[in-house]
Amino acid sequence: MRKLKHDVIIIGSGLAGFRAAIEAAKNPELSVAIVSKVQLMRSHSVCAEGGTAAVMRPDMGDSYELHAWDTVRGADFLCDQDVVWRFVQDIPKELLMLEHWGIPWSRQADGRMDQRPFGGHSFDRATFAADKTGFFEMQTLYDTLQKYDNITRYDECYVSSILTKNGQFCGVAVWSLTSGEFFVIQGKSVVIATGGACRMYGFTTYSLTATGDGMAMAYRAGLPLKDLEFVQFHPTGLIPSGILMTEACRGEGGYLRNSKGERFMEKYAPGKMELSPRDVVSRAEQTEIEAGRGIVGPEGILGINLDLTHLGADRINERLPLIREVTIKLNFIDPIKEPIPIKPVAHYFMGGVHTDIDGATPVEGIWCAGEAACVSLHGANRLGSNSTGECLVWGKITGEKAAKFAAKSKAYLETPSDAALKDEENKVFGRFSTNGKESSYAVRHELQKAMDSFVGVFRTEAELVNALKTIKELKQKVSQFKVTDQGRVYNTDLMSAIESDNLLDLSEVIVTGAIARKESRGAHSRRDYPTRDDVNWLKHSMAYYTPQGPRMDYIPVAINMWNPVERKY
Ligand SMILES: Cc1cc2nc3c(=O)[nH]c(=O)nc-3n(C[C@H](O)[C@H](O)[C@H](O)COP(=O)(O)OP(=O)(O)OC[C@H]3O[C@@H](n4cnc5c(N)ncnc54)[C@H](O)[C@@H]3O)c2cc1C
Repeated sequence: MRKLKHDVIIIGSGLAGFRAAIEAAKNPELSVAIVSKVQLMRSHSVCAEGGTAAVMRPDMGDSYELHAWDTVRGADFLCDQDVVWRFVQDIPKELLMLEHWGIPWSRQADGRMDQRPFGGHSFDRATFAADKTGFFEMQTLYDTLQKYDNITRYDECYVSSILTKNGQFCGVAVWSLTSGEFFVIQGKSVVIATGGACRMYGFTTYSLTATGDGMAMAYRAGLPLKDLEFVQFHPTGLIPSGILMTEACRGEGGYLRNSKGERFMEKYAPGKMELSPRDVVSRAEQTEIEAGRGIVGPEGILGINLDLTHLGADRINERLPLIREVTIKLNFIDPIKEPIPIKPVAHYFMGGVHTDIDGATPVEGIWCAGEAACVSLHGANRLGSNSTGECLVWGKITGEKAAKFAAKSKAYLETPSDAALKDEENKVFGRFSTNGKESSYAVRHELQKAMDSFVGVFRTEAELVNALKTIKELKQKVSQFKVTDQGRVYNTDLMSAIESDNLLDLSEVIVTGAIARKESRGAHSRRDYPTRDDVNWLKHSMAYYTPQGPRMDYIPVAINMWNPVERKY
């Protein structure tokens, strides 16, 4: 087996991975590897639509304090406030740097960067490039990466394990999807930037590739997963595909209407209406649907109307061209003339691999950034447009830290033994030899049905217990997966088996944490415990891997600016 060496390894080529790679590569002495299971620019980050929040107009009334307060309140007080404070100060610098690197921001008539309103923000601070913000941010970072000749890219290479020895990071095991080769990259430090995991839900905005591999690998390597029970439901997923209708639709002035044509948000959040935080809007929609005031969407699916018709053709064409293209092509609906059928959709993981404020995990040499990480910026509910920003800020921080660490280490600290490497290879290709009868696709489908039905916008003990039972039953089938394709090149059958295994482990953590948390906070809304319980539950959940299922533990929340108060919009 080939053993390659790079000082710093970045797993993932989304916004977090790219930003980390640029920062690490600034030290010309270091060799940096980017490993990604997709072609670098196909990461989910290119799908980000609406914008990136930052304080760019202090002269017009915005301030760090206001952005921080919006984030803390949006998070239902479960975020770490020192983390939030660092974020709001750093993100404007990142956006200005992207500006200098050439990003085509949408602009005002006078040439200044434009900003639009977003849910839960009390100032119009989402900086954007039409409704393709993530695409242009990615392209700008990708262009910038070309300046560094100390970066080696491993496109379409699947990392199957993070290797540690004697409590230290020592490398990653890699399966090249294009050549079929299995090899190891030894490294001094690593940044896990593998993104989110919403694909355990059937109705989701996420790319098929968002299977939480990095979280699952880290979990199995002994790292704790933090706050995973908090899954964000975005209020506007297109029926029936789940494709995101960006919050910018409402930021630009779109309305939500029930079957009676009413703007029902008046009843739930009269102050902020459609631009309330996502947990609030999703619950309102779900309540309307359950009360019989939903519209009947495509395929008979009940939903809500997202009405943009009053915005006019010019505004929609200039500000929301992607939305119009998608709804025309997929639903034969022109939003200039007709409302769009939507409903709450699984969209984002507030939780992830536990890190400190610098993105460092408890294992020496391992950092984590972006959606895979839980640095505790979003708490129990993320505000729209704060995630792309998190990727940029903690991409930079972790890239810099991982590089400094690698520069200090004179030699490769630990070498994985040949036996350990063989073992890793067997974990991947050993799945060929199973005479299994179970289809990983069918198992994933069953998992998605259970998660869609029982672990949604509202939760109850009985439903969660039901979901956990299903997950445990499905986990029994993993060792029985039948892998029909026996080749090593572009074997999506084998990849599906590994990814489904990952999704099952993460779903078990979500549901176990959700059963344990007997309160309602942010996106975790329990019908049987409808109020927030700061006395018992103002704490982060930490899930540790054991073969029997996660072991839960809890750590305190950093509160140094604002004490929790009732959350009203
Ligand atoms: C449709 C949509 C719209 C959004 N719009 C916005 C928005 O307007 N504003 C905002 O702030 N946020 C938005 N978000 C959220 C935000 O885009 C994401 O949270 C963020 O882009 C995640 O970036 P990331 O770098 O963490 O990971 P990703 O961009 O998801 O990249 C993950 C990377 O990890 C790699 N990877 C994963 N597993 C493996 C493996 N086993 N081996 C090798 N490589 C692996 C993948 O190949 C990929 O390169 C949106 C999300 C979606 C889905």
